[in-house]
Amino acid sequence: MRKSPFIQQVILITILLFIGCQNEHEIHRTKETKKRVVLEKTSKKKKVLLVGIDGLQIEKISNAATPNLDKLLIKKGFSGGITGTTSEQKTKSGPGWTTILTGVWLNKHGVPDNNSSHKSKVKSVFQFIKEHDNNLETASVATWSPIHDFLRDQLQFINYKHQGGSDDNAVKNSVNELTNHNPDFLFVHLDEVDGVGHSSGFGSSYNSAISRADKRLGTIMNAVENRINTKNEDWLIIVTTDHGRENSGYGHGNQTTSEKTIFVGMNKQGNAEFNNYIGTIPNKDFNGIYGNVAQTSIIPTVLTHLNIPIKKEWQLTSTSLIGEVGAQKVMMKNSNTLYWHASSSGNIEIYRNNQFLTSVNSLQGYYVDTAPSKGDTNYTLLLNGQTSSVTINNTNIIAGLDWNDFINNKAYFFRDDIKYVRYNKTLDKADSGYPIQTNNSSWPGLGNYKNLISAAFKWSNHKGFFFLNDGRYIRYDMNTDIADTGYPIRVTNQNWPGLEAYAKKIVAAINWNNSKAYFFLNDGTYLRYSIKNDRVDSGYPKPINNSTWPGLGNYGAKITAAVDWNLTYCYFFLNNNTYIKYNKTLDKAVSGYPKPINNSTWPGLK
Ligand SMILES: [Zn+2]
Repeated sequence: MRKSPFIQQVILITILLFIGCQNEHEIHRTKETKKRVVLEKTSKKKKVLLVGIDGLQIEKISNAATPNLDKLLIKKGFSGGITGTTSEQKTKSGPGWTTILTGVWLNKHGVPDNNSSHKSKVKSVFQFIKEHDNNLETASVATWSPIHDFLRDQLQFINYKHQGGSDDNAVKNSVNELTNHNPDFLFVHLDEVDGVGHSSGFGSSYNSAISRADKRLGTIMNAVENRINTKNEDWLIIVTTDHGRENSGYGHGNQTTSEKTIFVGMNKQGNAEFNNYIGTIPNKDFNGIYGNVAQTSIIPTVLTHLNIPIKKEWQLTSTSLIGEVGAQKVMMKNSNTLYWHASSSGNIEIYRNNQFLTSVNSLQGYYVDTAPSKGDTNYTLLLNGQTSSVTINNTNIIAGLDWNDFINNKAYFFRDDIKYVRYNKTLDKADSGYPIQTNNSSWPGLGNYKNLISAAFKWSNHKGFFFLNDGRYIRYDMNTDIADTGYPIRVTNQNWPGLEAYAKKIVAAINWNNSKAYFFLNDGTYLRYSIKNDRVDSGYPKPINNSTWPGLGNYGAKITAAVDWNLTYCYFFLNNNTYIKYNKTLDKAVSGYPKPINNSTWPGLK
């Protein structure tokens, strides 16, 4: 290619300047030496060792001799997602390790429990590293082999992997890897502490297991130390756990403070996100546990140390624990208000489902989305090259229809994003491929009124009724799967004696063991309808309170849908992403409800 005269001039000037500098070489010598020292420091090869000790309760570390953990700076953290939101996940190993290695919660990685048929739906740290630089070497040694099952689409990005066997074997493999190869990122999982917890609970056996884990950690850390002493390498060491334990120490899996409590230890000083507990967050559940380090912080920390730029499209949940601090503790304050904590002033860019939304000063600390979208909505905040994300699902269940039990064991849920979900009651999860659009091919005769559906219930194993918010209704034939001809028609006192005056207020309806039906109204009252007499019973509507509906009383005006399930139970869905399980035999809500609608409680529904 011919060089332009301009470029030729630039080259000439550069050469002249270079010659000029050569003449002052002596003067620059001290400066150069200083520069070289700095350069050597920063040019050290960055490497990461991530050690996971399964089921290690942070409060018990001090009960055991742990000279190696003691070399690290250890901070309290939390697992299990934000309880009551789409990110909530069981405090179990499957979701926990998947979160540790992907930097996101259940709503994104999709591993709800320990069943190894589950597979992470997102990229892991191994893929982030290899996509950045395929020459970087990754290694993963997991005593609990399902970790690699959940990441089976990721195994191609791991240069050396080993799973199963004993912790001692895992240590041997890790030391071999550190001694005879050159891993840039090594993940090691040690399992014994969790096993001892399950068999013996907290106590001396558990404490001894912690000491043995510490010894194993020490052996691996020594191998890293050897490298630091002989090679020009800068190692970040992170030690963590997947979940805490219930108070006895035996089990785990639920949402309690001790089960959600984890720890993150590092051999580095860490930044404000690592060192400062934030007590001003809007969600102070579990004694303010969310002000601590999140389990999702580990992967951005690994990437930051390795100088791998974090892409906002990855929608990583948390900011790094070292280096620059992004938006901290990002969470929804309510359905359309984002909250974050900022340690410094700067410009935060806010992205909604990867589309740029706005940018605001970080110190503002919140943002109101005046036009939030339905369905899964992800917000990613970009500040100082770090990202933080939160997902909210504003979709409401607006009607539930228990389908013909003689044909299959399904229920249908209609949502206000004009989609519906077919739910398998036997497997207790949505059928794959759902949600899909509600329209005239999926629901012949109903599709034209998809925007008006307010309630549905099964009248018999043959017919279902849909109520529309304009006071009309549709009879649907469940045998032929088509609306009966002539519908919709207006609800009158002839076709539904006693219901006409309330037809536009119906928000939910349910068949009660084929003798009664209940209609729930938008003003917190309800009607009882006799299926036998085919009319509203006298004395209705009545208020929904804790004597008419024990356990449901405080939520009467929040009901958006109800669905009959079996002879004993039915479900109520509320407008704040929660639901209530109701025992028809005892005629009261099951204790502990409302609970969030998420991928643990209703897999695939929202
Ligand atoms: Zn366990």
